[in-house]
Amino acid sequence: MSNAILVINAGSSSIKFSLFAHEPSKRELNLVYRGAITGIGTHAHFTAKALDGEPLASQDLSGADHEQAFSVLLDWLEHRDDGLSLAAVGHRVVHGGVKFNTPVRVDDAILTELDALVPLAPLHQPHNLSPIRALAKLKGALPQVACFDTAFHTTQPDIACLFALPRNLSEQGIRRYGFHGLSYEYIAQCLPEVTGELPSRVVVAHLGNGSSMAALKDGRSVATTMGFTALDGLPMGTRSGSLDAGVVLHLLNNGMDAKAVSNILYHQSGLLGVSGGISNDMADLLANDAPEAKEAVDLFAYRISRELGSLSAALGGLDALIFTAGIGENAAPVREKVCRQSEWLGIQFDAQANQQRASRISLPDSPVSVWVIPTNEEMMIAQHTRNVLGY
Ligand code: AMP
Repeated sequence: MSNAILVINAGSSSIKFSLFAHEPSKRELNLVYRGAITGIGTHAHFTAKALDGEPLASQDLSGADHEQAFSVLLDWLEHRDDGLSLAAVGHRVVHGGVKFNTPVRVDDAILTELDALVPLAPLHQPHNLSPIRALAKLKGALPQVACFDTAFHTTQPDIACLFALPRNLSEQGIRRYGFHGLSYEYIAQCLPEVTGELPSRVVVAHLGNGSSMAALKDGRSVATTMGFTALDGLPMGTRSGSLDAGVVLHLLNNGMDAKAVSNILYHQSGLLGVSGGISNDMADLLANDAPEAKEAVDLFAYRISRELGSLSAALGGLDALIFTAGIGENAAPVREKVCRQSEWLGIQFDAQANQQRASRISLPDSPVSVWVIPTNEEMMIAQHTRNVLGY
């Protein structure tokens, strides 16, 4: 029997999972299958697929809550005749605050500490913690490890984390944290293998439905575009990214309540808002001739280019730029716009390599090299889980 590590990424109404097999005597982890329970609380549905896309499960779970959904998943895992024994579960948890700078095995005391961080990420943290609690109840002896989106950024210097607000607010934890840390960590780990060295001053652009960028000095985060929440920085699918805080005050002072403003900033802005409601999806926008669609794509690329300048300033220069996540890995026109606008930084763009989706998309002599590297947050969580538990 090989050990298996279950990786869980839980949101408000869905639980995505991946199962990794792990030979005790070997270092590597192999993805065996993945799946999801969607529509939790309403029309919940459980699906699982093999790596070749073959459906392994499809079950209606209408009305199931998180705990019921979990018990179906566990039951399914336990009754598969695949020679795997579930040894541990790794969870993506959005917020580890200032304290949790590495993944941690969860017990009751840790869970209480993670609960106390809910006010810092009210839209995500409760949903990340709920499956941990459900599993502890269903299978108390199964080790669980929490892996944080914020942890990788705890290496940022204080100056990069401070807002220019009164000190008492900073002391209450109102500061920049940064997110997508598991993705950045995975990329930092791949960099030497992909590029043949570890470039010293690197900016990684994680461009997906949620987007952010991070400056890595010798593989460690020194600055990032997301701050106190995952609303900051770049425009995203439906999130505004950075904006003048005065806009929020203006909306509040002119008839909107906090809930309505929050709905605009999280769900009606970004690519969706700028495109005038055409789509939050980059592939749709690139295929659409409407001027609003073009403007949304142009603004996205423009903001990335401006943040690249800012993060390069934090690094004192730039040696390599990495594109990753759904848009970064697949949207060649976005990569081209960003690279063309950033030639002043020393990027010599290779248009042909970019079209062919080569790993390196800068010319051989380019002073700044540019790469496309697929991210794998689930693998990072599986590795952390194995390492924390000492397998
Ligand atoms: P993620 O959140 O990392 O899954 O990324 C989702 C984003 O990637 C969406 O905006 C998709 O439209 C975008 N995306 C995925 N594939 C493509 C593609 N082939 N061309 C353009 N955008 C893509």
